[in-house]
Amino acid sequence: MKRMLLIVFLFGLVTSVQGQSARRTMAVTIDDLPYVKFSDGVYLERARAATSKILSTLKKHQVVAVGFVNEHMLVESREREGRIALLRQWVDGGMVLGNHTYSHPDFNRLTVEQFQDEIAKGDVVTRQLMRSRQPYQLYFRHPMTHTGDTQEKKEAIEKFLAARGYKVTPHTIENSDFIFNVPYAEARQKKDDALAKRVRDEYLAFTIAATEFAEKVSPKVFGREIPQTLLIHVNDITADSLDEMLTRFEERGYKFVTLDEVMADPAYQTKDTLVTKFGPSWLFRWTKSKGMDVDFEGDPEPPKWVMELYNEK
Ligand SMILES: [Zn+2]
Repeated sequence: MKRMLLIVFLFGLVTSVQGQSARRTMAVTIDDLPYVKFSDGVYLERARAATSKILSTLKKHQVVAVGFVNEHMLVESREREGRIALLRQWVDGGMVLGNHTYSHPDFNRLTVEQFQDEIAKGDVVTRQLMRSRQPYQLYFRHPMTHTGDTQEKKEAIEKFLAARGYKVTPHTIENSDFIFNVPYAEARQKKDDALAKRVRDEYLAFTIAATEFAEKVSPKVFGREIPQTLLIHVNDITADSLDEMLTRFEERGYKFVTLDEVMADPAYQTKDTLVTKFGPSWLFRWTKSKGMDVDFEGDPEPPKWVMELYNEK
């Protein structure tokens, strides 16, 4: 009788865990296409390796990601066609390309007019490449997610973007891969495999800690766990870790959905009215916009030793 009860209990536990985990959804967004080079070597060669790795991993996990392009990376005349071909690979792989401005400037340092020019120049090639996919939702992501350090600037750009059919792309999980990538690429270059592994392990652990935080904080803002939007970059550490990262998300019960689907969730209709010179997550912005007082102290930071290696560079 006792054993029977135990079996019933365990069965209930398993089904409740499955029931809970099946609810989770996540959109994947990837910035700074075609590629952020940190280590030595030929840009195009390294970019091709990272692009192929990322795209085959996305396909394996059935992820339709949005990739945000900086078209100034296409001006290098000798490599222009090769770099455009990288972007074409994303489109051919079923991904969506978005506008991340032309040259990745900091909006805090620009006037509204200068930033508008950056947006207008930002997706000339991208739109050509995406022509076969029309109609599709145009997405914009501010560099460093700096959305405007004054209310006037923020509202002027929002208006400008909306008039041109763009939606501003939020994120709820950010894993500081651009920080981890620096000591990682450095370690790989020096063939210090032990350090590269240590950085990569720490990076994956940090990604999950940031995810757990988003899972815990979203019910405090919306009364439920909301669909998450991940922000990562096209760099070496992400290329080398994405398969394991996506597997870990799946183990947490995530199903990958499109950005369109995530953006249709009621939580994402909350207007971000926070004016800041920083680039916090939308969970933080929505909290402030709703006038709520939610504790973000537990939002994890990359470990000190990684920050020290990053700052040395
Ligand atoms: Zn960026």
